[in-house]
Amino acid sequence: MNRFFTAVILLTICATTSAWAEDIGIQFIASNDLGNTATKRKITQDALYNYVDVLNAYYRNSRVALRAKIMQIEYAKISSVSGIDIINDMKNERNGFEAMFNKAQQYGADYTIAVVSQLLILGKPGCGRAYAVNQSVAAISDPRRAFAVIHFFCGAHTLAHELGHLMGLNHGSLVDACNPNRGHTSAIAPYANGYAVGNCDGKLQPGEFGDIMVGGNMRTIMGNDKGNLHIFSNPRLHDERCGFNKTCGDTKTGDAARALNENAHYYASHTKSITQSSQ
Ligand SMILES: [Zn+2]
Repeated sequence: MNRFFTAVILLTICATTSAWAEDIGIQFIASNDLGNTATKRKITQDALYNYVDVLNAYYRNSRVALRAKIMQIEYAKISSVSGIDIINDMKNERNGFEAMFNKAQQYGADYTIAVVSQLLILGKPGCGRAYAVNQSVAAISDPRRAFAVIHFFCGAHTLAHELGHLMGLNHGSLVDACNPNRGHTSAIAPYANGYAVGNCDGKLQPGEFGDIMVGGNMRTIMGNDKGNLHIFSNPRLHDERCGFNKTCGDTKTGDAARALNENAHYYASHTKSITQSSQ
């Protein structure tokens, strides 16, 4: 009886969640060296499916009603290792990204992510780069502003971070305090930002933490650029790991979960324009 009751509750929760969450489709364009043998293709495919599962766990754990799905994985000769060059090649649909936006529409992909095994960000090895921090409804809805590049080995965390930028999120107020005048809090809303607690001395102190959108800037805060808590900021979440106040966000400056939930429909609508225009 108990088991039956649990199953009914779980089914109800699943049904509610799936009806409520917005689906976002992703097409991955991976560099040829990640897929030039059947074994490598299998490894790459398994890893990408795993990244998306983990991304969905980040959304669930942050109480964000988004669910990512892989619509297509293909391989291409990506000719550059520079993040800026790859983003420009994607924008201009050249050097491996030919017809990229048409393919996204065809496969029902809201976002296109290039996946490479070598990536330089500002001349140094890096994890990812988004086309932009999209800061208006028009920008977050535009299929031609919905792409990023990630390093294959950086995984789900980087995928979540770069998608976050495309969805209108930025790094947040502590990163801005550590690194002023670089626009680290320019986002789709004042609260659409990462959240961190600490100072800028690059050494770990008790209570210091930062979330997914703080990203590689964690190095400035606690000396470890992979030390992020794997959630999006949400002041309604309380966790031992979220600083001395055990609160994982701030209503005014760090509520990425709110921004993502408010705009979920736009993220999921990148491929609907064709259907709409044919009606
Ligand atoms: Zn970033």
